[in-house]
Amino acid sequence: MTIEELLCYGRQYVHSDYAKILLAELLNKNVLELYNYLNELVPEDKVDLYKEEINALANNKPLQYVIGNVNFFGNKFIVNENVLIPRFETEELVDYTIKYAKKYFNYPVDIIDLGTGSGIIGLTLEKKLVTNSVDLVDISKEALEIAKKNKENLQLHANTILSDMWQNVDKKYDIIISNPPYIKEKEEIEEIVKENEPHLALYAGEDGLDCYRKIFKDIKAHMKEKSLIALEIGMTQAQDIVNIIHETLENVQIEIKKDLSERDRMIFIFKNLE
Ligand code: GLN
Repeated sequence: MTIEELLCYGRQYVHSDYAKILLAELLNKNVLELYNYLNELVPEDKVDLYKEEINALANNKPLQYVIGNVNFFGNKFIVNENVLIPRFETEELVDYTIKYAKKYFNYPVDIIDLGTGSGIIGLTLEKKLVTNSVDLVDISKEALEIAKKNKENLQLHANTILSDMWQNVDKKYDIIISNPPYIKEKEEIEEIVKENEPHLALYAGEDGLDCYRKIFKDIKAHMKEKSLIALEIGMTQAQDIVNIIHETLENVQIEIKKDLSERDRMIFIFKNLE
């Protein structure tokens, strides 16, 4: 079949944009380029794969899992069903963290990314900052395998640690960052998310705060004299999380930040940083 025929085929089942994106990805072309080759024949094996992928999409599988990678902060990361699909807000969390890190630390930093999933946060920070060490922690072995592949693809050095938050961690860090699961057990979420993304990466107990409690329970032992903590949060959780922070940390500055949609989606904590 030709490129044009395949695009027509795909459009019968999924949105035409999706049909284009899938085919372009499969043929290593960009979407606009496809139009220069409409009459080109596509090899049989790729035709089969394309049809399978169209079928998966038509059955509500997220595009990112079908394609198998996403762009995050300018880099390509592998994703599959064992890791959360990176969200735009997380780029904002990383962006602020880079700015703060550059402002406050003029030496190579030790960073830990708790609940790293595909590794997007920690690996992006390793790329953008001068680091001494980057530790990527996750409770899921399968997720860490993806994080490891992403590390290799980007030729970085981060360590992967299988651990339920701090359980198997004994170091202290300059930067502690996390986008933990924070959805309430009974909260209604989009069907495509609920059906496809790992529940381990989404849900965190009855009130969605279990992971923040775990993080703060042992955090003191892992903070250096000067340290920065950066967290992504659910848009209604800021006050509850500030309360959890106050239970364990004194003499820190706390800043709640809004995302581009004006929702409270990040908390930064500064210890001895000015
Ligand atoms: N840290 C990863 C991300 O931000 C995974 C987050 C998660 O699984 N809760 O995408």
